Amino acid sequence: MRRIETDIVVVGAGPAGSMTAKWAAKGGADVLMIEKRQEIGSPVRCAEGISKHWVEEVGITVDPKWIAREVRGAKIVSPSGHTFLVDEKNAGNEVGWVVDRVFFDKALAADAARAGTEILLKTSATSLIREDGKIAGVMAQSYGEPVEIRAKCVVGADGYESQVGRWAGIDTSLKADDIDTCYQYRLTGIDYDPDYCEFTLGSAAPGGYVWVFPKNEDTANVGIGVQLSKVKHPADPKMYLDKFIAKNPGLKKGQPLEAVAGAVSICAPLDSVSTDNLILVGDAARMIDPITGGGISISCIAGMCAGKVLAKGVQANDLSMNTLQEYETAWRDRLENKQWRNWMAKEKLTTLSDETLDKIVHTFSKYGVDKLSVQGLLAVIKEHHPELVKEFEEFI
Ligand SMILES: Cc1cc2nc3c(=O)[nH]c(=O)nc-3n(C[C@H](O)[C@H](O)[C@H](O)COP(=O)(O)OP(=O)(O)OC[C@H]3O[C@@H](n4cnc5c(N)ncnc54)[C@H](O)[C@@H]3O)c2cc1C
Repeated sequence: MRRIETDIVVVGAGPAGSMTAKWAAKGGADVLMIEKRQEIGSPVRCAEGISKHWVEEVGITVDPKWIAREVRGAKIVSPSGHTFLVDEKNAGNEVGWVVDRVFFDKALAADAARAGTEILLKTSATSLIREDGKIAGVMAQSYGEPVEIRAKCVVGADGYESQVGRWAGIDTSLKADDIDTCYQYRLTGIDYDPDYCEFTLGSAAPGGYVWVFPKNEDTANVGIGVQLSKVKHPADPKMYLDKFIAKNPGLKKGQPLEAVAGAVSICAPLDSVSTDNLILVGDAARMIDPITGGGISISCIAGMCAGKVLAKGVQANDLSMNTLQEYETAWRDRLENKQWRNWMAKEKLTTLSDETLDKIVHTFSKYGVDKLSVQGLLAVIKEHHPELVKEFEEFI
């Protein structure tokens, strides 16, 4: 059997994996990144929206090749059609650019390769190697052949369906309330506003929302996320989306170029995403914004935190929790509070009736909002709908 030795093996070449690999390799570690698919970035299971402000921080060079559309902001639409515009700077993690992930994910992997990462496609991790009870790498199938990959640390960057965490005994299980099941079309030939990412709230998408993310003047990613606890039949998300499109004359005239199904976690931060000689990053670690279901920026930021700590651990020849605790601290300092806050907000938002959502969105659009923070939004609600404030007492 083929045997490979490396410092770090990264399982999964999505944004989390490539970013971890890049920063670890930049810091001098030997890194092998394995990807089960034969093409990085494809097929796309994503609405492809990202904000702009974090890109420089993680060292990504902006390339027009992966930008499909630049948008001005977000359009929040209430169940009866009230609309509230939010400019791009205040609109959250998914609004700024709509990217082309086929190019974007490859660009991140190419950066990792430039830093020295070796990449193996069509290579799927199948189990962990343990030696004297200690994690010592992964077994994989590479182009149909078994391969033993010995490593000082395993990185589970294997996405929503992650198995690496489970193999390591890290609890990544999710409640039905903490999962959004998604369905999306790429629709072309539509009439719509290509300058805004649109989010429609309420019973059109129980516990989630319908999105329209512009790809170009007449083409958009039109999708839906529905809270799993509110799904009675696996085909429900598609059914809700088809109903939404049928009611919208501009979208109804479109034709599909692609259809994809997927899921995202919308949970609170996990208690732990690491153990001796193994860490989880990105969707595998349930690092996703629980309100929007967006995780590209979060995966990249956490990947950078991870890669830097792994490089240090390789130099010190210590990839036990002694060193990896620094990763837990780094990603939590940067991301944990927001994930908690947005999870609490999601828990509340998913209980609001269409009538309440209408009142809230109408109030924001009529009176405006000085500051787009939970406190800023609540101040406006308090002034114009004091009767609703009790719904949000725990946030005040
Ligand atoms: C429908 C939908 C729409 C979304 N829209 C947005 C959006 O607009 N904006 C946003 O920010 N986020 C969005 N997300 C979330 C976003 O796609 C993820 O947060 C992001 O891709 C996470 O990156 P990752 O690297 O952790 O995981 P992934 O991108 O899922 O990458 C994981 C990689 O691991 C590989 N892999 C899995 N198992 C193995 C194995 N055993 N061996 C080897 N390789 C393996 C997979 O093939 C994959 O390439 C959306 C998600 C869905 C489902």
